[in-house]
Amino acid sequence: MSGIIHKARGAGIFCCLVLLVSGFTSLYLRYLTSLVPTDNPLATDEGELRQNIELDNSLNFGTRPGVQTITSWKAPIIWEGMFDPNLYDQNHIQAHSSVALTVFAVGRYLDAYLKTFLTSAEQHFMLGLPVTYYVFTDQAEKVPNIELAPQRSLKVIQVEKHSRWQDISMMRMKTISEAIESEIRHHCNYVFCFDVDQEFKGRFGSEALGDSVALLHAHFYKFPKEKFTYDRNPKSKAFMETGDFYYHAALFGGLWENVKNLTDACYLSIMEDKLNDVEALWHDESHLNKYFWFHKPSRLLSPEYCWDQSIGDMSDIHVTRLVWAPKHYDTLRTL
Ligand code: UDP
Ligand code: MN
Repeated sequence: MSGIIHKARGAGIFCCLVLLVSGFTSLYLRYLTSLVPTDNPLATDEGELRQNIELDNSLNFGTRPGVQTITSWKAPIIWEGMFDPNLYDQNHIQAHSSVALTVFAVGRYLDAYLKTFLTSAEQHFMLGLPVTYYVFTDQAEKVPNIELAPQRSLKVIQVEKHSRWQDISMMRMKTISEAIESEIRHHCNYVFCFDVDQEFKGRFGSEALGDSVALLHAHFYKFPKEKFTYDRNPKSKAFMETGDFYYHAALFGGLWENVKNLTDACYLSIMEDKLNDVEALWHDESHLNKYFWFHKPSRLLSPEYCWDQSIGDMSDIHVTRLVWAPKHYDTLRTL
């Protein structure tokens, strides 16, 4: 009998201990979760990250037999037909993804391109997600007043106008890095950086979002490596003997942390070239190519995401999402 009482008492003490420990654990866990601000749209957890990774398992790599759909390091190359747009949109909405779009309109480029760029982005860029446009210009008062859909906003940031067009293009790296640090990282988790001389024509959606995103250049995606126009001057920091692909600097993006690292690295290389009195063949694009050679992008966009309509052979292009605007270098560029 006393043995039974003993056992019962032992079990009672054991139960109390378990209750105490589990009580403390749940209190401690509640304390820990209270440290994570739940109203922060940037708050992410392991579940969300896993969801994003699993999302790419839904890609159909075999649906476009005529083109390369995956890199040697297993990064997807996104072509029309490979993805379910609704699946990506739903997942990114659930994960509270938000996107910053940076674009520069300095000097004559503002009048020539900005309005078409922004109005077409409102029709096609990341619909359903919160988007903030960051327009960098030397003429803030001339930025067109575009009607924006809900959850979308536009900020104008004044920049100086460098006298050489090459510097206007290259110095974007520094300005973007500074804007990420002071502004963007507090509001958005992804950043996409665009040239302004382009027009959206079709869906440019959440399937394009990734940790680090590079674009295949429309003129080179079919060419062998030997034809890529990397910088070949050993004196430049952008010098490359070989690479994976030829990437187009008209757009790149990713998580803000990665775009910050990219823009910092490219800006440093550009400045080092200036100290050594050299300039890379294709300016910021040469440095971008060098960066992506050492830091492989996790996602590549096919030329459907930035097509030059003057290219005759469109057999691989099932949809044009963004197209090059006509270039009028002679009248638009400064020097
Ligand atoms: N840009 C600008 N004003 C200029 C030159 C360049 O605003 O006078 C910006 C603009 O966003 C442009 C980008 O820098 O799209 C890159 O220059 P460009 O488009 O001329 O280069 P390309 O497309 O020929 O490589
Ligand atoms: Mn351009």
